[in-house]
Amino acid sequence: MTFLNETPAVTVRRSDVATSLLSDGDLPPTGQFIDGQFRPSTSDRTLDVVDPCRETVLARVADGTVADVDLAVVAARKAQPAWGRLTPKERSLILLQVADRVEKHHDLLVNMESANTGKPLGVSRDDVASTIDTFRFFAGAARSSTSQAAGDYTENHLSVIIREPLGVVGVVTPWNYPLLMAAWKIAPILAAGNTLVLKPSELTPLTTLKFAELVADLLPAGVLNVVTGTGPVVGARLADHPGIDMIALTGSVNSGRAVAQGAAPSLKRVHLELGGKAPVVIFEDADLTAAASSIRNAGYWNSGQECGAGCRVLVHESIADTFIEHLVNEVSSFVVGEPNAGDDVEIGPLVSRPHFDRVCGYLDRAKGAGVRAAVGGSALDGPGFFVAPTVLINVDSDAEVAREEIFGPVVTVETFADETEAVTRANSTPYGLSASVFTENARRSHDVAARLDAGTVWVNSHLVLATEAPWGGFKGSGYGRDLSIYALDDYSRTKHVMHNHTR
Ligand code: NAD
Repeated sequence: MTFLNETPAVTVRRSDVATSLLSDGDLPPTGQFIDGQFRPSTSDRTLDVVDPCRETVLARVADGTVADVDLAVVAARKAQPAWGRLTPKERSLILLQVADRVEKHHDLLVNMESANTGKPLGVSRDDVASTIDTFRFFAGAARSSTSQAAGDYTENHLSVIIREPLGVVGVVTPWNYPLLMAAWKIAPILAAGNTLVLKPSELTPLTTLKFAELVADLLPAGVLNVVTGTGPVVGARLADHPGIDMIALTGSVNSGRAVAQGAAPSLKRVHLELGGKAPVVIFEDADLTAAASSIRNAGYWNSGQECGAGCRVLVHESIADTFIEHLVNEVSSFVVGEPNAGDDVEIGPLVSRPHFDRVCGYLDRAKGAGVRAAVGGSALDGPGFFVAPTVLINVDSDAEVAREEIFGPVVTVETFADETEAVTRANSTPYGLSASVFTENARRSHDVAARLDAGTVWVNSHLVLATEAPWGGFKGSGYGRDLSIYALDDYSRTKHVMHNHTR
């Protein structure tokens, strides 16, 4: 078997030009995007936006206030009735224009996303392409909603079911896919006839602000509002604001809990896409080469900063050594580097110093507890927040690294003896976002997929998404669905109108 001291040492490939991804004119205007224009925040305080490769300040954005949110909510409330009254076709045409506008500025958005997050350009290209597809899908879905047929379900009374907008939706997005996660919310929320106030992550606000600038002339004023700031101030106000009808958050479990608590007094709806710790169950009859290659992508895409990452492998004990060898070979072939250091770079830095410290803490404690790194296992030389792609083996099912979301380029490998043990252990974390099973056995593929407690289960694959299919979790991974027509249901309300037509 190949182990750490036999694999080549990983170094960070650096680009020649430190700032080539962005030039001054590319940055979005400063201030809050409220009622169709950028305006100064009510506070003079700013937040630094840092390049995670070089640790330099790329830009500064407003450290928003409760008063900023309140102004944005007034604008969103004012805009909602007219936006909600547009026909689906009219809203659809605008969403298609939004998609075209994003496509027109594809390269700028790709570069900006990579500059702010350190993502390889290939990951940012995928993010922007998926953003465009999300707007196109919801433009179509808005025009083809389905529901129970109208009919006389009670004598002489015609029942008509109507889907109505909720009103104003507050949205809080994370830093791992800043533009794409914003699109996953904005597109269905607007398609369903709502208006919104969105707070991007304070670490990665640039592409969301740029998006607002780019589409400002397409959307009526007040339909989309963006307020930058911290979670405990701006995010918390969105959750407790009495003028907001629903709060939708993609983020960590703790933030989800805080938002749900903040929403409770006003009884507003809550939509939560939270963390994950996806188990990958590999049976003795699986195609091991294909499984290892699938985890190469699913465990390390976006440097493992991915809520659906296939990060916890459970492999049958009879094939564990062979599988680990395949996986170590796959992971040893990654090029780690800055986004503009070549198109073959697949692993970038982690997003921030605190997150880097968190991931390194997991690796240090695992090492202290006797867990072995078959490849990687530590931070890479700075500057920047780079961590070596890592495979941890000899991991117990109750080990910290097997149970908690690390959110870095780290995959753990445990073994199991039989199917029941595999399913029990796969379901044993508090999360339930996604899971996968690798097997060539048809009975097993259906049965195990049914018994895995996750909102998405892949068979012989992992981390492949379709805009037409729902995405969202069970258990501690939250509730509510992004993507697909299920998101349109989540962002609208059901009304029953009954007509008495007795003659
Ligand atoms: P985070 O929870 O730290 O931050 C997410 C957002 O919540 C940020 O905008 C932040 O400012 C805000 N926030 C923080 N505290 C808040 C509070 N008290 N009230 C309101 N808002 C608050 O998460 P992150 O570190 O940005 O993102 C990583 C997490 O997101 C991971 O756990 C990951 O699994 C999860 N995630 C889930 C999905 C999914 O689809 N399920 C997708 C992407 C990321």
